[in-house]
Amino acid sequence: MTVELLAISPEAEKIIEQAGRTCYMSFERIGANSASEFIQRLIKMGHDSPLEHACATFRIKGCSRAMTHQLVRHRLMSVSQQSQRYVSEEQFSYVVPEKIPQQYLEDYHNDMRTIQAMYVKWQERGLKREDARFVLPNACCSEIVVTANFREWRHIIKLRASKKAQWEIRNFANTVLEILKEKAPACFSDLSPE
Ligand SMILES: Cc1cc2nc3c(=O)[nH]c(=O)nc-3n(C[C@H](O)[C@H](O)[C@H](O)COP(=O)(O)OP(=O)(O)OC[C@H]3O[C@@H](n4cnc5c(N)ncnc54)[C@H](O)[C@@H]3O)c2cc1C
Repeated sequence: MTVELLAISPEAEKIIEQAGRTCYMSFERIGANSASEFIQRLIKMGHDSPLEHACATFRIKGCSRAMTHQLVRHRLMSVSQQSQRYVSEEQFSYVVPEKIPQQYLEDYHNDMRTIQAMYVKWQERGLKREDARFVLPNACCSEIVVTANFREWRHIIKLRASKKAQWEIRNFANTVLEILKEKAPACFSDLSPE
């Protein structure tokens, strides 16, 4: 899986400080380094809504449909995903679960080849892609672009970087966290992978 940051609000922490200080009319306290401390205080208080003024967009490639199905449950996130109606899956790539024992790996690849043949077979029997895809596996790779504001990214990271989350979405959440920590440390530094 690759996770690429496509866009992030410029001067994200300054925008959040501007928005947050509106609540207190404390603009006179804005200085070269005031945003970081102010944002950390907002987060500690649970005054999270100013974090909604900054957004980040990621492109994810090579992840499974099993993973994207979990990801798109986050309703405050905007999504554009590769379609299985418009894009052929005849040569689909697939994710191999980390836990598959080495001695069964070839069997897994054989199963995927069988499914590829099934998909082609049903198209040859006249089914459109939108119906032939019914035989495709959760392992099938997908590409997806997702946008969320910082408050929602914090929420997603808390749920999905947790040990309780499934390994693939946890890898995704940890990568997003690493990137956002670098770009907006005041907004994400209090979070860490479990
Ligand atoms: C470890 C784990 C296991 C899971 N297992 C399952 C499972 O077995 N089956 C299953 O169906 N799902 C499962 N889920 C998905 C989970 O139930 C949520 O659908 C998903 O995590 C999205 O989170 P969310 O609803 O908090 O957040 P989002 O949709 O990202 O929304 C963010 C926040 O906005 C608020 N919000 C959004 N929409 C509403 C609304 N309509 N009403 C009130 N408040 C709202 C809530 O405060 C919410 O937390 C699992 C999630 C995790 C992390």
